[in-house]
Amino acid sequence: MKYVSTRGQSPAVSSAEAILQGIAPDGGLYLPQDIPLLSAKEWGAVRGMDYNETACLVLSKYLDDFSKERIAGCVAAAYAPERFPGGPAPLVTLNNGVHMLELWHGPTCAFKDMALQLMPRLFVAAKDMLGDKRRALVLVATSGDTGKAALEGFRDMPGTGVAVLYPDDGVSDIQRLQMTTQQGDNVAAAAMHGNFDTAQSAVKAVFADTELGAELTAKGVHLSSANSINWGRLVPQIVYYVYACAQLQRQGLMEPGQKADICVPTGNFGNILAAYYAKRMGAPIGMLLCASNANKVLTDFINTGSYDSGRDFYKTLSPSMDILVSSNLERLLFLLSGGDGAYIASLMRQLSEEGRYTVNGTVRQALAESFAAGWCDDDGTSAEIGEVWRRLGYLLDPHTAVAYRVAAKLADCAPILVVSTASPFKFAPDVLTALGQPWTGDAPGAVTALGTATGVAPPLQLTGLSALPQRHPDELDPTQIGDWVRTLSGTLM
Ligand SMILES: *Cc1c(COP(=O)(O)O)cnc(C)c1O
Repeated sequence: MKYVSTRGQSPAVSSAEAILQGIAPDGGLYLPQDIPLLSAKEWGAVRGMDYNETACLVLSKYLDDFSKERIAGCVAAAYAPERFPGGPAPLVTLNNGVHMLELWHGPTCAFKDMALQLMPRLFVAAKDMLGDKRRALVLVATSGDTGKAALEGFRDMPGTGVAVLYPDDGVSDIQRLQMTTQQGDNVAAAAMHGNFDTAQSAVKAVFADTELGAELTAKGVHLSSANSINWGRLVPQIVYYVYACAQLQRQGLMEPGQKADICVPTGNFGNILAAYYAKRMGAPIGMLLCASNANKVLTDFINTGSYDSGRDFYKTLSPSMDILVSSNLERLLFLLSGGDGAYIASLMRQLSEEGRYTVNGTVRQALAESFAAGWCDDDGTSAEIGEVWRRLGYLLDPHTAVAYRVAAKLADCAPILVVSTASPFKFAPDVLTALGQPWTGDAPGAVTALGTATGVAPPLQLTGLSALPQRHPDELDPTQIGDWVRTLSGTLM
């Protein structure tokens, strides 16, 4: 299967090449030329499969240049029980019949692990398949969950190193602790003075620095990124939608012929796009409900056909959805336009020059056939956490609470699956406040307090944090990043 660019100007490549390259040379995103289908026979088989078997089947359809053995090896290592003690994607049905797909049982307690435990293994395999002997330094700017998940994912991966920059005033205390205590021999993390944009600009400047690039090349090192535009991050996410639908049928929670609506708390549009791929493969999925927080640029787009990033930016209780330019939307637009690269390139040009674009009638109609959208502000988020806890005894994190509330507003009578993207303990201080017990102590204390208040056991990945040694106390100014990268490239791998 060949991978093409959304902007239509780059040669088609194999999946291994798409994963190694990340972004296409024409600035577009890679996606498979055709969407593979699951036959009726395969679908029948999926209902009897466990998570890893489902992953092997789905991945082998997209990564057809990888041998089955390679895929199986990557999957077994990524989703091993010691990494996902509660299973990779447990389905929990609440007393009111709503199904929660919990994707946060991995090492960092957020759904980014589902992709970032597997993607580094696919990346290393792709390097091997293509005979690429260079070492890869993976550089990530993060405002939250991605940084820690990338550190855990690339930790001790041969031939790679990973370096994460986060804004010193832009991550929660728990997220900061998770990064400063990161273990492994090829990892680094530093706080950058400034906000997320400062960190992201600093990383972009490193990629654009040709002198530094030449120095690194001479040392046999190339810079790479692990952000969610890489196909290797998207493809693992398709798996859990196929798996969840099969579970619903297997457990008799959905009749044959019925379709589930799925509500996804959305930021960069990767997770919900994976659900769309699962639907197009033939999984019994009805509408995809896109849930936004106050940064509701996607909700407005789905409801009006106009994408407008020129608006105020809000810091919300669900920081991983605080995004005004959702990069993965570009892939959906390409699919809905029937693969019109020139059209997508023109939309993206308008976005970068004017901050906005409006899609044509064809795309608008195709969008309305599969997507609906809603949003919820911080007051609504807090209220939902409190209500769902009191009524149903189920704890929501703020991101999942946004989706839960939107699902309640938009759902009709179909079975509804709400995607749960983070452990509530990762946002313990805000969740305590939502439960009417404001917390004034430190963040690790809030994790314990939330456990005591609710009788729900906090994940071990979070309770042990304050006892771990601080390994990455570095703080940097944007001007220091070049030297930081130079030092790392000499010592990391
Ligand atoms: C990243 C993230 C999201 C948003 O997912 P996208 O794929 O970027 O749309 C939602 N919730 C949590 C907890 C996240 O970490």
